[in-house]
Amino acid sequence: MNYTIDSCERCDALVESRSRIVNGVGKASLGAVFVGEAPGAQEDEQGEPFVGRSGDVLTEKLNERGVARDEVRITNSVRCRPPDNRDPHVSELENCRPYLVAEIDALDPDVICTLGRVPTKNLLDCVGAMREVVGEELRVEVGAKERLVVPCYHPAAMLYDRSKEDVIDETLTRVVEIARS
Ligand code: SF4
Repeated sequence: MNYTIDSCERCDALVESRSRIVNGVGKASLGAVFVGEAPGAQEDEQGEPFVGRSGDVLTEKLNERGVARDEVRITNSVRCRPPDNRDPHVSELENCRPYLVAEIDALDPDVICTLGRVPTKNLLDCVGAMREVVGEELRVEVGAKERLVVPCYHPAAMLYDRSKEDVIDETLTRVVEIARS
């Protein structure tokens, strides 16, 4: 399956609310894939995931660890902006999952880092509070094989709760370590 797509109409509501499909970016040459939730307003406008303030945080955090943004793959659980930035519905996550799985299978990363509750729940298939799994190194069946998934808080979380920054730092340091090893 082609994971970079230019047309898809599986989700009626998201087809209405999006301006464009936002595919993942980056080469994953480091061996890490970061998975977010869904495009927001700026992503929808620019056609790239994790731009704007939370994207800046992610890029800064990667750069602080000697990693350029385009050395990793940055993608989302759904590729179309939900109306009013609501969470994607379960059916929409399921509709879009084959693209994400195809992307992960094709890139075959050493580690997947989920950014926030929605992508973590999407890939782990069950999760309570983020604090129960953040920073854990979990073996999860994703697509063709079992993969290492490390959940992290969404980068935007530290913008309104600075206490999360240390956890985000520790988690991203570990993700980069795994990808480099
Ligand atoms: S979110 Fe994914 S499955 Fe739904 S319409 Fe967009 S590209 Fe298709």
